Amino acid sequence: RAKREGRGNACFFDAEMDKAARLRRQLENDLRQAILRKQLYLDYQPIYDVGSDSVSGYEALLRWRHPDRGVIEPETFIPIAEESGSIVAIGEWVLEQACQEAVRWREPASVAVNLSPLQFMIPTLYDQIESILRKTGLDPRRLELEITEAALMRERTAVIATLQRLHRLGVRVVMDDFGTGFSSLSNLRAFPFDKIKVDRSFTGALEHDPAARSIVRAIIGLGHSLNMPVVTEGVETELQRRIVIEEGCAQLQGIFFGKPDVGPSQLFADMDRAAG
Ligand code: C2E
Ligand code: MG
Ligand code: MG
Ligand code: MG
Repeated sequence: RAKREGRGNACFFDAEMDKAARLRRQLENDLRQAILRKQLYLDYQPIYDVGSDSVSGYEALLRWRHPDRGVIEPETFIPIAEESGSIVAIGEWVLEQACQEAVRWREPASVAVNLSPLQFMIPTLYDQIESILRKTGLDPRRLELEITEAALMRERTAVIATLQRLHRLGVRVVMDDFGTGFSSLSNLRAFPFDKIKVDRSFTGALEHDPAARSIVRAIIGLGHSLNMPVVTEGVETELQRRIVIEEGCAQLQGIFFGKPDVGPSQLFADMDRAAG
């Protein structure tokens, strides 16, 4: 009897998995059309700079407005895009879109773009970025590229060479989500990073977990000695803000300062309209 019930459950799980697999395939197909059908767009989240007490940049965060399913979060569709390979075209679209929009901002704030590890597997990544900068006219010093350690696992020599060339162009390279994954110290030394971004899971734990604060302090100290300013993401409360500033964080990001939103270009367009 137990056996039969077990089998019944297995059937149920099979059906559920089948449904999940079908949904995934559906999204994978829809995603192929998403660029052409203009369903992708970028939200921008302000990055607050402690030294100048002002917003110094914005991170571009990708969204997908699906015709039937509403807005889909990157955590849902980027893994699918990575598995199917469409992330390469999507990543290029993001870069071009972000640079194009940033040149229209009235303030010369920096724009941070997330890169998938897979984008480093195409040998033309440097040329692609260089040509987008030229075409859009964005000052390379306003562009920041956020990469996670996963991008550093394969083809290390080629990735280092690409990052060094970008660096020479004036583009800044940010190690994103530091503190999760490998958090390898030799990676920080071997790759030309300009900035370290502490993963938001630490920020969320700061108020009640002394260990989280110790880790953030250690990362900031490490950044200091390597000449890499440290950014904290996911700052949601006044107390978190106070703690990370006390610990010497150079830049802060999170809903305390502003949610990902239309970004300054849209705001200024609205202001222009209001001014007549
Ligand atoms: P990320 O690069 O670490 O981006 C920060 C994430 O934290 C964003 O999630 C942002 O909305 C969220 N966030 C901002 N403030 C707060 C806060 O105060 N509290 C909390 N709990 N979260 C906050 P989002 O927009 O859902 O993006 C998730 C991830 O998707 C990003 O993490 C990034 O890894 C990836 N992603 C986003 N856009 C792109 C893209 O254009 N290309 C690639 N390859 N990945 C992207
Ligand atoms: Mg990021
Ligand atoms: Mg992050
Ligand atoms: Mg992330």
